[in-house]
Amino acid sequence: MADVRDIFECSQCGYCCQGETTVSLDEADQKRMVAALGIPEVEVRSRYWRVSGNVVQMKIVDGHCIFYDNGCTIHQGRPWRCAQWPLHPSMLSDKNNYDTISKSCPGINTAISYDEFCRILQELIDEQTTIHC
Ligand code: SF4
Ligand code: SF4
Repeated sequence: MADVRDIFECSQCGYCCQGETTVSLDEADQKRMVAALGIPEVEVRSRYWRVSGNVVQMKIVDGHCIFYDNGCTIHQGRPWRCAQWPLHPSMLSDKNNYDTISKSCPGINTAISYDEFCRILQELIDEQTTIHC
């Protein structure tokens, strides 16, 4: 049986939560985040979101996502794109994605071959194992 730790173990480096932009939140993300915070949406909007037209992102504070504090402080309410990182299924069909992601995320096990990585990731997806960090 495949073990996610064979291909990924989060080092908690925080790299994926840093930068001047964050992932965008779709409607389901917004609802999940509001529920997780337990405060009215209007307050979530003003305190935590950066809204530009139809695009909703999390605010950036000191170069990182507003929810980052030595780890994600809104784990249950985080956007789906955060939950999917870094084991994105697109890595299976495009080695360029694997190369880009493995360079960005030190948690990816690069000691094994790309083929072996894909074999294990595919097995985890087939087993519907929880594979996010
Ligand atoms: S998922 Fe990767 S980039 Fe993000 S904190 Fe973990 S090891 Fe670092
Ligand atoms: S919601 Fe959590 S996982 Fe996503 S960028 Fe912010 S701190 Fe990181």
